Amino acid sequence: TRASLAQAQKMEAIGQLTGGVAHDFNNLLTVIVNSLDLLAIKLNDPVAIRCLSNAQRAAGRGAELTRQLLAFARRQPLRPGAHDLNMLIAGFEPILRRACHELIVFALHLAPEPAMAHVDARLFEGALLNLVINARDAMPDGGLLSISTECVSVDESSRFVSLQPGTYVKVSILDHGTGMPAEVLRRAMEPFFTTKEIGKGTGLGLSQVYGFVTQSGGDVVIHSEVGKGTTVELYLPAADAASLLQSSSAASPAVTPV
Ligand code: ADP
Repeated sequence: TRASLAQAQKMEAIGQLTGGVAHDFNNLLTVIVNSLDLLAIKLNDPVAIRCLSNAQRAAGRGAELTRQLLAFARRQPLRPGAHDLNMLIAGFEPILRRACHELIVFALHLAPEPAMAHVDARLFEGALLNLVINARDAMPDGGLLSISTECVSVDESSRFVSLQPGTYVKVSILDHGTGMPAEVLRRAMEPFFTTKEIGKGTGLGLSQVYGFVTQSGGDVVIHSEVGKGTTVELYLPAADAASLLQSSSAASPAVTPV
């Protein structure tokens, strides 16, 4: 639709802008971090050492933020390969569970067949963790959090502007949490957009997920209803068995998307 095309163009423009700023900022941070490290060797006054370690921690946090921004802005090299997302999710489940609290009922509904998709496994796991943390934060009093996979085919007549016709693995992260009002839903994937308290949210979680998925050739769809909950759907391009053989026999080189 026209609205989703405008949304995609807006995200593209934000990506270009943040990518440029984050890149230059990262260079400056590198100079700061290196200088602080050098200074640390020379210092022996305890107060100065404490100041320095605060500055080092703050610079480290800044570096982490620029890393997340660069991920959104597609400036990070991808290492895609053919992976069974069912296996990646099952393997990562203990960490996802640990990110939740005891009132959350965690459930997996994985497709019976292998859910082969072409993704960077580490970034996929990072995206899942972000989505699980959001679902957790939306359910302070507990509730259901489910992750499911399904192999789907998208044809010409689909409502997706940014998906090529073809087969995809749909990964859905569902929660029975607070849900989002329309205005929040509209802006949720923008970098730095957050409704969380200062120190709790950076507003970079969903933008990172969006960057990773679109960079992989897929798309993100969010359904949300206030008081009912939220489902985030990731459409990731399916990989066939042949590409699995290929990627396991030769280490795939890093690809920097343009
Ligand atoms: P952050 O989590 O740091 O705020 P995100 O980009 O991950 O940043 O999310 C942006 C905003 O979208 C959140 O502050 C929240 O308002 C909303 N949001 C994201 N996921 C959910 C969810 N599962 N349920 C309700 N609101 C959500």
